[in-house]
Amino acid sequence: MKVYDYQWSASFGLDAETAAGELVRDGVDTVLVRNQIDPLPTSGVDQEGYLASGTPVSVAADRAWSDALRAAGLRVYQTTALFFDPGLLQSFPDARPVDANGAPHVGFDWYLGVCPTHDGYLAAKIDRLQRVVAELEPDGLFLSFTRYPGFWENWVPGYTFTNADRFCFCPRCRARFGEDLGIELPPGDAATQARVILEEHGIVWTAWRARRIVAVIDRIAAAVRAGRPQVEIMLNTLPFPVSDFAGLDARREIAAQDLAMLRETVDRFELMTYLQILDRPDSWLEMVVADARPALPDRPLYCTLQVAPLYTHGIHAGRGRAEEITADELDHSARAALDTGADGLVFYHWTDFLVDEAAGGRKRAVLRELSGD
Ligand SMILES: [Zn+2]
Repeated sequence: MKVYDYQWSASFGLDAETAAGELVRDGVDTVLVRNQIDPLPTSGVDQEGYLASGTPVSVAADRAWSDALRAAGLRVYQTTALFFDPGLLQSFPDARPVDANGAPHVGFDWYLGVCPTHDGYLAAKIDRLQRVVAELEPDGLFLSFTRYPGFWENWVPGYTFTNADRFCFCPRCRARFGEDLGIELPPGDAATQARVILEEHGIVWTAWRARRIVAVIDRIAAAVRAGRPQVEIMLNTLPFPVSDFAGLDARREIAAQDLAMLRETVDRFELMTYLQILDRPDSWLEMVVADARPALPDRPLYCTLQVAPLYTHGIHAGRGRAEEITADELDHSARAALDTGADGLVFYHWTDFLVDEAAGGRKRAVLRELSGD
């Protein structure tokens, strides 16, 4: 269960022990939480409004919440938004990614990605993660935004990828790629060299980028396990099967998440099957898991389900997204996901269950029935 806020306290008046007990009653075994050492930046789906309205958030509160969860027998994973941190990116302007047109990445809505090869940025993040592990003693780290840039939420059926989706062609990435593979790129600007890389070295470029992501995770794992060897690594990965975009493997070719390569270094995998955001039916889950499983025969694989609809208005409107998710739909999706052979479910997020229940809804009852089956 993703629990990225303290609304159980601020709006529902629960203390930490009671909230932890309620999660156990809901059938939850692992909780993905956020913290104030490496906070999740503002996004379209965050909760700053009620975070501000509740108990002051502090590392001490994070520790007390984590302790209460673990005392209740739950596993606790601290979440990081690794390559999404606009505040930190300001300190490292040359970590801004460059696309295959040579244009600096401008992001979309709240989202702004980071170039994965910037040592200073990564070192700053790792410093924070070492503090997270030392001070909060989690069972694991949940790495989100651990990939090349892209607002995957817009990759609804029929989405057409262009050079503006392909990263990163900053001077550092181009130089390192050339050095690592002994490839002499012709002189020219980013767009010129990007064209040569994609047209003449596309396969090795894709593999090299995937290795960069693996190397980043290896570095994080080594750093945090130096102080706490048992820390597990859970990764959030894009869900798209190769069949989704006319054979373009968006997870590997765009985001540089190569599941087979990541298997060595990641303990658990989340597939971000946000059906309503991505405008996909329950039947899509079968393809998603069938596509991912061969690369990960021996790693737990979880499908994420939304509890409430997102991205239906403003800049996000007009992409075919449903306006609601009913309790029955949630039930059907959850059962469909488990029928695929997924090892479990992740729900985004607990607050939506509490809000629905307070409004007289049945979603929380559905959750409890699922875990009781
Ligand atoms: Zn770069």
